[in-house]
Order: sequence, then structure tokens, then C-alpha cells
Amino acid sequence: MPDLDQILQEIAVEMAAEKDRGRVASYIPELGKVDAAQFGIAVAMNDGRVFTAGDVQKAFSIQSISKVFSLTLALGHVGDALWRRVGREPSGNPFNSIVQLEHENGIPRNPFINAGAIVVADILLEGHEPKEAIGELLRFVQYLADDASIHIDRSVAASEKATGFRNAALANYMRAFGNLRHVPELTLGVYYHFCAVEMDCLQLARAGRFLAHGGRHPDAGHSVVSGERARRINALMLTCGHYDGSGDFAFRVGIPGKSGVGGGILGIVPGVASLAVWSPGLNENGNSKLGSRALEILARRMNWSIFAPRN
Ligand code: GLN
Repeated sequence: MPDLDQILQEIAVEMAAEKDRGRVASYIPELGKVDAAQFGIAVAMNDGRVFTAGDVQKAFSIQSISKVFSLTLALGHVGDALWRRVGREPSGNPFNSIVQLEHENGIPRNPFINAGAIVVADILLEGHEPKEAIGELLRFVQYLADDASIHIDRSVAASEKATGFRNAALANYMRAFGNLRHVPELTLGVYYHFCAVEMDCLQLARAGRFLAHGGRHPDAGHSVVSGERARRINALMLTCGHYDGSGDFAFRVGIPGKSGVGGGILGIVPGVASLAVWSPGLNENGNSKLGSRALEILARRMNWSIFAPRN
């Protein structure tokens, strides 16, 4: 195997020198305060080894990366019935777009755009108080990463609640179609708290390990989800995980990935490793600019694209 530790250090040096770092998301005021001059990367190999470089212990807001964990939980609650309320096709539109919802009767294209994840939050709220649904997701990521210190930044959730007019529009619109069972304000409160989970790169890479391990928790040994479900979640990450930049991410990096406007990306190399990268500056699709670039270099140097020949 190429020297992964050295490759990561080289990537971190290259990214530190980068002048054009993209723009930090400022539509959520709390996120706008984050310094763009940061970069971290972590790799959790399936054999248990862990490699890191850069600002790897700085916690960041995982934002839409939480959509992977909430989808996983919701599939556990309602199974394939979830697909009656959310589609499985790439949207080709920005993450917060409302245009398709009218044509498609309030059924969001996929669970990784905001509208889809709001429906997923609504499913997790069924039969629960909001704080129970929020606690369930938090405990789930703590269990996956085997780290009870992972927490939610309530100031980020509050900041988004105060300014989330687009998400409120999406939620109300879907409620009008009968695809939201709870009062929009309650469902959105749950959704914002999911997005406000904070993790550092190492914690995030560890939380994603089950998807690289055919659905098994590498420490606990038992199944988080079936192998088939892990494969399907990975497929959705590849096709929908970067919104209208998903095609480009598959083209350049070639692995399932999920980004968030906090600047994090979770990447999965099935059977090999779970990767997390963070750099807060975003490109025009709302995906981490240097994060995508770093994963492109890493995947190329390690030959990790899922489209590369297997030997
Ligand atoms: N909480 C953010 C929002 O709803 C998540 C978006 C993202 O990370 N792409 O706008």
C-alpha cells in the first residue's frame, strides 16, 4: 500500500498553501463566524488503523452529513415504506430548492436534499417528543463513532431556526401535500438539531465505518444495518450526496460521499476505509472546495475510486 500517512501530510501542506478556499456559508449566521483557513482529514481503515493530518481535532458542524445518519435510523424505523414519501433520484438542483416539489406532488427527489431530510426527520418524530428524536440521533452517532463526547451545538440550531425561511417554505409546502405528519415547526426543530451535531474529522470518519464494513459496527461486531442496506445508502451517497455537484464529485473522486455546508465531507471506500475531510470554504454548489479537492487527490493516489479495476 502507498504510504498513506505521508500522502495525507502532503495533502495538508498543499491545502494550507491554497489561496482560493471558497466561501464560508453565511446564510446560517453562526457558521459565518468560522475561520476559512482550516483544513483537516482523517482516514479510518477497515483494518482498524487510523491516519490523520491537519486540524483534525477541531469540531465542526456536520450539517447535511447528518442526513446519512438520520436516513439510516429512519430506514430502521419504517423500512422500505420510507420510499413512498421520498424518492431515490439525484435532483440536479441546489440542496434547498423548492422547484421540483410542485411537479412531484410534495415527494422530495431524495433523502439527501433538505426537503427529503425534513421528511426523514418527520418520520423519526413519529410517536416521539422532539427531544427524544434528537436524542436518538445523537446517541446513534455516539455509538457509531464509539465516542460519548459528541454533542449538538444548540447555538447553531437556534441560528438556523431564526433564519431558515427556505426550509420553513419546504416544510409547509410538503405539509400541504400531506407529506409531513407533524406541525412544520416541530419537524424543523428536529431537523436543525440533527444538522447542528458537531464532530471532528476523526469522530466523523469513525461514525462512517459501518458503511465501509458492509453494515457492521467494527468495534461492537454486530450489524448496524444489513449489507444490502449499507450498499444502498452508499449508492445514494454517490448519486445524491453532493446535490447538483454529485456528478462532478463522482467524476473527480469516484466514491460515495456526503457533504455539509459546515465544510465537512464523509467519504466511503467500501471494504477499505471511511474518510472525513473538513475545510469550511464552499464551492458554488455548497460543497467544501478544498475538501473535494483533497479527496480527489487522495482517491487518485490510493486508487480508491470505486470505478477503478479491482485486482
Ligand atoms: N442545515 C442546512 C440547511 O438546511 C444544511 C444544508 C447543507 O448542509 N447542505 O440549509
